Amino acid sequence: MVAFKRPDGRKITDLRPMTAKVGVVPNADGSALFAFGDTIAIAAVYGPRLLHPQHMQDPKQAVLRVNYDLLSFSVYERKKPGPSRRSQEISKMTEYALSPVLDLKEFPNTVIDVQIYILQADAGTRTAGINAASMALAHAGLPMKDLVCSVAIGKQDTTVVVDLTKEEEDFHEGEGATDFPLAKIANSDQFTLVQLDGNISTDLIPAAIQLANDACAEIYEVQKKALKEGALQ
Ligand code: UDP
Repeated sequence: MVAFKRPDGRKITDLRPMTAKVGVVPNADGSALFAFGDTIAIAAVYGPRLLHPQHMQDPKQAVLRVNYDLLSFSVYERKKPGPSRRSQEISKMTEYALSPVLDLKEFPNTVIDVQIYILQADAGTRTAGINAASMALAHAGLPMKDLVCSVAIGKQDTTVVVDLTKEEEDFHEGEGATDFPLAKIANSDQFTLVQLDGNISTDLIPAAIQLANDACAEIYEVQKKALKEGALQ
């Protein structure tokens, strides 16, 4: 029984309205926009191209290099421009989340650059960024086993809910809020990102995974539709 109401009236299983579009950065090899409500991410892919300096090349496979940035005007309290520990961590986690679907061995000595910019932030930016980047890689025509879909599960007091807003993330009552971002390979049971900020009892993990699975199925349909529409243009 849910003892609270979500501030925007959503059910615990409801994602925010999603927007997805490819080809938003025409000069990139592939690009996409993905939004969960007021959280808007764009991703642009460049490459594979020869990696310089040469000593950074891997003769066995391409290097996937992600740069995530939360733009300073994307948040209410202006953020200092440029990289931070947070952005470096999210960039690395996004590389780990996306690498398993890419055939990096096909492009030795090269780099695939993925630039992710958050235009507007209302929580869930890393997950929106992963969704956008996955679409942008497909839009670039790179060989991929599947798409990656990502969503944050949260805990409001003792109930798990899908896709938290910033207002929900900041809500501290009872056991406090929890942010549990996950990413999975769309047509498999394989998760490629699992992070946890806050705490969650092990009893709630199966319900959280189920919520993420169901949400990822919805996200996948939105990603696929946008890619198909982009291919027709
Ligand atoms: N945020 C902010 N300033 C910052 C970093 C984050 O206002 O410097 C906000 C922003 O709305 C972000 C939210 O805090 O979406 C949650 O950030 P978190 O680090 O948990 O990652 P996210 O949920 O965006 O993946």
